[in-house]
Amino acid sequence: MADFPNAGVRLNPHVAGLPPYNAGMNIDVARRRCGFENVAALASNENPHGCSPKVKAALAQLNPSRYSDPACAALRKALGSKLDVAPERIVIGNGSEEMIAAICRAVLRPFSTVVTVVPGFGLHEIEPRANGAKIVKVAMTRDLEFDLDALILAVRKKPSIIFLSSPSNPVGPALDGDGLARLIAAVPSETLLVLDEAYFEFSDEETPDGIKALADTGISYVVLRTFSKAYGLAGLRVGYAVTSDERLAQAMSSAKTPFNVNAAAQLAAVAALEDETWMRQSVAAVKAERDRMARRIASLGLFAPKSQTNFLFIDVGYDSMAAFDHFLSHGIVVKPWKEPGFESFVRVTVGLSAENDRFLDALTLLIGEHAAARTGR
Ligand SMILES: *Cc1c(COP(=O)(O)O)cnc(C)c1O
Repeated sequence: MADFPNAGVRLNPHVAGLPPYNAGMNIDVARRRCGFENVAALASNENPHGCSPKVKAALAQLNPSRYSDPACAALRKALGSKLDVAPERIVIGNGSEEMIAAICRAVLRPFSTVVTVVPGFGLHEIEPRANGAKIVKVAMTRDLEFDLDALILAVRKKPSIIFLSSPSNPVGPALDGDGLARLIAAVPSETLLVLDEAYFEFSDEETPDGIKALADTGISYVVLRTFSKAYGLAGLRVGYAVTSDERLAQAMSSAKTPFNVNAAAQLAAVAALEDETWMRQSVAAVKAERDRMARRIASLGLFAPKSQTNFLFIDVGYDSMAAFDHFLSHGIVVKPWKEPGFESFVRVTVGLSAENDRFLDALTLLIGEHAAARTGR
C-alpha cells in the first residue's frame, strides 16, 4: 500500500459504498466518441430552446467579485409572491439536488428508513444512503403507474422520509388529485413527504400543484422545484424547496453551505421568473413535440408510458447499453436505464424538432435491426 500513503484513513462506509449517479454523457465526450460535431443531447432533460433573453441581459449586470447573498433574499421574495408562500418557508439550493441532500442531512440518522419508488430518481436513494439510512423501494405497477396502495402501506410504517418525483423521473406519469389526496391522508406525523416536482411545468392542466395541494394539510412536507428544466438554467444550478414550516426550512438551511447559490444563478433565476411568457411558450413547444414523438413510438409498436414531463421512457426491447451505443453512433445521446428490471428502457429528452426526427429515425433503424436479427434475415 506504499502507493497510497493515506491508505490508513478509514472512509465513511455509507459514502464509500454508494452507487454512482447515472449522469447523462457529457457532450464533449460524446463528440469525441461518435465523431459528430452536431450531437443531439437528449440525455439530461434540459430545455432545447435555451433560456429567456432576459436572463442573458441580467447576467450582463453580474459582479463576480462580491459574495452572493447567502439568504437569496431577492429570489425568495420573488418566489414567495409567485407561489403565495412566506419566503421564510423557502430554501434555495445549488440545484434542487442540493436540497435533496440538505433534507437528508437535516432529518436522517443512521438506520432511519426512507421510502422511494422504482424505477426512480437516483439521488432519492443516494443521498439517504450517504446518511446511513435504509431504503425501501416501492415498485411501480406493471404498466408503470404509481402503485398507490403499496405506497400507502409503506408510508403507514412511519419512515422518516418518503421521496416521490411526480411527474415521475424516469417514467413520466404524475399523481392525480385523488391519488395525491389519498397519499397525503396516509402520511403519519413522524414522516416527511418530499414531493419532487422538477417537471411540474410540463404536467397536464388537471395535475395538482403540490404546493397548493399540501398547504394546510397539517403534514410535514417539502415540495422541490427547479430552474434547470422548464426555465433552461441547468448549467447555473438553481432550484428550491417549499417547506411546510419555518423550522424545517431553518434546519435545511443549516445543513447546506452558506454561499451555496452563486450570484449568477440568483440573478438569472429572478430574471427567469420575470419572463414566464418565454417559459410557457417553450414548454408548450416541448409538449407538442413530446406528443408527436409518443405517437411515432406507439406506431412502432413500442411501449412508452404517457409522459407529463419533457422526456419519454421507452422500452426498446433491447439491452439499454447496446441501444445507447446505437444512438451514439448516430450522434444522439440518450440515457440508458440500468435499474434491475428496466435494462431494456432508454429515457430520451424531447429536443428540437430536427433532433427528435433524428432520434425517431435511429429508433426505427434499431427496431428494424432487432427484428431482422430475431428472424435471421
Ligand atoms: C433534474 C431533476 C432534479 C435536479 O434538478 P437540479 O435543480 O438541476 O438539481 C431533481 N429531481 C428530479 C426528479 C429531476 O429529474
